[in-house]
Amino acid sequence: MDNYKKLKFTDGTEYPVGTIYCIGQNYAKHALEMGSTVAENPTIFIKPPSAFIEDNEMIVLPDFSSNVHYEVELVVLIGKDCKEIDENLAWEYIAGYAVGIDVTLRDIQNQAKKEGKPWAVAKGFFSSAPISKFIKQNVFGSKIPFFDLKLYVNNELKQYGSTKEMERTVANLIKYLANVFSLRKGDLIFTGTPAGVGQIKTGDKIEAELTGFSKLYVGVK
Ligand code: MG
Repeated sequence: MDNYKKLKFTDGTEYPVGTIYCIGQNYAKHALEMGSTVAENPTIFIKPPSAFIEDNEMIVLPDFSSNVHYEVELVVLIGKDCKEIDENLAWEYIAGYAVGIDVTLRDIQNQAKKEGKPWAVAKGFFSSAPISKFIKQNVFGSKIPFFDLKLYVNNELKQYGSTKEMERTVANLIKYLANVFSLRKGDLIFTGTPAGVGQIKTGDKIEAELTGFSKLYVGVK
C-alpha cells in the first residue's frame, strides 16, 4: 500500500488519495458550451484513486480516444469524515484546496451520453486526474474563499474563471455529497470547470493555476 502515490500539501504534509468525486456543469457558461443547462440536482461522477497524477507527471492519452479535453477545476480535499453536516460549518471538513484538471475523453463521453451509458471510461481512465499541491484550509480561517483558476496550453491562456461563478458553492456540494455517500478523510471533490474547454495533443505542455496559491505542470504523451 505504501507505494501508492500520496496527495501533497505545499508545506510537505502528505495525505492518502480517497474517492475522487466530480461535479459536472457547475458553471452556466460551460453548460452552455456543452449544449446543456445547469440541472436541478448536481451531476456527479467518480474517478478511481489510480486516476491521480501529481505535479510534473504526464497525462497518457489512451489509444481508444481521438478527442481528449482539458477542464481546469478547483479541487477540495476533505480532512474529516462526515455524513450529515450544517452547510455553514462545511469549512471544518476541508483540509485544503488545489487546482486539478478533469481530463475527459470527449468522444467516448459523447457516445456514452448518446447511449445512456456511464462515464467511467471517459472520465476515470489512468492519469485523468492531475492535481497540484494543496494549500491548507487553516490559511483562510473559518471561511471558504473564492479562487481564480487559469489554464494554459503551450503558454497560451485557454481557460480563466473565478469560483465565484459556480452555480453550487463548495459548502453546498460538501453537504450534498456527504449526505448521499458520506465523505471520508482523503476524499477529493473536483468542483466543475469554467468555459473554454478544448483538446490536448501529444507533446502539449499544460500549466494550471489556483492563482496566487498553487500551480500544476503536466505534459501529454
Ligand atoms: Mg469537469
